[in-house]
Amino acid sequence: MHRTHTCGELRIEDKEKQITLSGWVQRIRDKGGLIWIDLRDRYGITQLLLEEGRTDAATIKMVRELGREFVIKANGTVIERVSKNPNIPTGEIEIDLKSVEILNSSKTPPFTIEDNTDGGDELRMKYRYLDLRRQPLRRNLELRNRLSIETRKYLDSEKFFEIETPYLIKSTPEGARDFVVPSRMNEGQFYALPQSPQTFKQLLMVAGYDRYYQLVKCFRDEDLRADRQPEFTQIDCEMAFVEQDDILNTFEGMVRYLFKTVKGVDIPELPRMEYADAMKFYGSDKPDIRFGMKFVELNDVTKNKGFKIFDEAELVVGINADGCANYSRKQLDKLVDFVRKPQIGAKGLVYVKYNEDGSFKSSVDKFYSQDDLKEWADKLGSKPGDLMLVLSGETNKVRKQLSELRLEMGNRLELRDPDVFASLWVVDFPLLEWDEDSERYHAMHHPFTSPKPEDIEMLDSKPGEVRANAYDLVINGTEIGGGSIRIHDRDLQKLMFKHLGFSEEEAQEQFGFLLNAFEFGAPPHGGIALGFDRLVALFGGSDSIRDFIAFPKNNSGRDVMIDSPSKIATEQLDELKLMVKK
Ligand code: ASP
Repeated sequence: MHRTHTCGELRIEDKEKQITLSGWVQRIRDKGGLIWIDLRDRYGITQLLLEEGRTDAATIKMVRELGREFVIKANGTVIERVSKNPNIPTGEIEIDLKSVEILNSSKTPPFTIEDNTDGGDELRMKYRYLDLRRQPLRRNLELRNRLSIETRKYLDSEKFFEIETPYLIKSTPEGARDFVVPSRMNEGQFYALPQSPQTFKQLLMVAGYDRYYQLVKCFRDEDLRADRQPEFTQIDCEMAFVEQDDILNTFEGMVRYLFKTVKGVDIPELPRMEYADAMKFYGSDKPDIRFGMKFVELNDVTKNKGFKIFDEAELVVGINADGCANYSRKQLDKLVDFVRKPQIGAKGLVYVKYNEDGSFKSSVDKFYSQDDLKEWADKLGSKPGDLMLVLSGETNKVRKQLSELRLEMGNRLELRDPDVFASLWVVDFPLLEWDEDSERYHAMHHPFTSPKPEDIEMLDSKPGEVRANAYDLVINGTEIGGGSIRIHDRDLQKLMFKHLGFSEEEAQEQFGFLLNAFEFGAPPHGGIALGFDRLVALFGGSDSIRDFIAFPKNNSGRDVMIDSPSKIATEQLDELKLMVKK
């Protein structure tokens, strides 16, 4: 038998039991007469003890030859520790070692397998199986497992069916770039890997499976960031015979259930914010509402005082930072540098200190009197001791810039606590978004999203103002999910394709299967997809999804462990007819 217990299991109540453990040698401390070994497996760490004179000499000799990460089987008796370790569950006991068997040796690992490892990112990715031995990663995968189980439990209890959809599908020009797979049997033709099972889940609604879900891999060939991977997992869902409220309520229920069962946290009902308000008050469609600092528009109190920059600006808008009037010159310069960073792109920042004595000191004192600045303060709700920060420019740009500054201030003032969760729905997204590069409108969500019925008439005259029945789930400033009520009418879907610049033939070629299906009794339907990796990372208190995925890719989309992507053999290329023979 390899083990009677795991390394995380034994307690003081097990005292005097004869046990066998198997695991990896995490650490050996040899103090001459006494030797301790930390033995580790997935469940925890148990300390083994050897004592010269008491432990068999051959066993001591063998233990002195062990190295880190050797795999051993240890036999012994559970005894009470002299000096207990309250930090680990097995900390009250240790094993008085009788015999040990080496199950396998190990090369010295390239980094320490400890909670705080000395290994750099690339090295840990290369030896991912060693990194995964570390407790923090083990805990992350345990959290992921728990979340997937609870997600399935909830959706099952709500009568959702998990149905698998294919991974080899058809390339479509909308959305992100596809990963494509050449077909050997169909020369010159390609499959695409799904960016999401969107059309399939809609077809399942036509098929009558009125509640579908799937924990599913999706693939998007996009440039990578910390929170993006070329393949990622979604909790993908669709429901028929529903309206927007039904979907929001069902998935609000799921989010609250997950917080409760997985984190033990009761979260309040999710507020619903219109997209237009999110942009106006937070400059973002994914506002972090763990803190206030809402935008206040200042056009009417800042213009026509001789300050050209504000006079010429489309929008002058500010935030109030509580208690920051004591910021030093250096701190203020740092904020100016922050907004001027190329990624943010503001030209400058106007600040006003509302001093404790009621006076104002600003970077625009030349143009604005104390009375003028008091007006700003009243609008911004500032009180003595606060700092007002104001940006100006073209509306969309300046909102984005101020949003970054707001988040930066939130960080500086420690208002973005990862243990606090603030969730909301952002609703009524625009249907279409103007794309500068292609000079045409794109679907903001996707081409199957239905416009708000009352806005359909503006499709021709003011396409940019048409709102969609689309919604995002935002938690702590991160977009965790998004979805929409779909178009289920063939004619409206065709009209949508037309507005997206598809010719009738193109629409038929790309999406004919869906348009055809809509002729066979498509029910009203809608759905949502939640980014599962992001959700797990959020629950784990981290911004980066990488440490919550067992085998992630690096920033260049490479798996450095298996060294992929890689070249393929000439024969394979030939077979796929991807290369002209020389
Ligand atoms: N398929 C969409 C996405 O991946 C989600 C949805 O509309 O249900 O973003």
